[in-house]
Amino acid sequence: MSDATSTDGAVDRFDESVAVDRAFRCTDCGRRWYYQRRRCPDCSGTDATTYALETGVLVAVTSVETTPPDVRSPNRLGLARFDGVQLIAQLADEVLSVGDAVEFAGAYRLRDEQERSRPRLSAVDGDSE
Ligand SMILES: [Zn+2]
Repeated sequence: MSDATSTDGAVDRFDESVAVDRAFRCTDCGRRWYYQRRRCPDCSGTDATTYALETGVLVAVTSVETTPPDVRSPNRLGLARFDGVQLIAQLADEVLSVGDAVEFAGAYRLRDEQERSRPRLSAVDGDSE
C-alpha cells in the first residue's frame, strides 16, 4: 500500500501512520470526517483522500478532574471546528476558551501502551490578546 501521508492521494485501508492533523474526504460523495474509518458514513464508499487541517475554532471546552492512571489530571479537552470536521482533543494551553483559534500541537498517547496517537491543540501563535 502507498504512504497515505505523503500526498493527498487515496487512502486504501486503515493506516496508523496518517498524521493527526489530517481529515478525510470521500471520493464518491464528498463527505468529510476526522477519525480514520474504512468506509464513508454516508455512502459506504471505501475510497477517501486526506487533507491537512490548519486553523480551527474552539466551540466547547471542559476539564476532566477524575482520570485513569497515567492520564493527566485535570485533563483539559476542547471540541474544535475545523475545515469540514469537528473533533475533540486535549488542550495544551490552560488559557484556551470558547472562540479561540487553535492549531495542532502534535500528538500524544493517552497511555504508553496504546498505539493510536491522539491530537493535541494549542493556541494559534499571535492569537492571544
Ligand atoms: Zn461517501
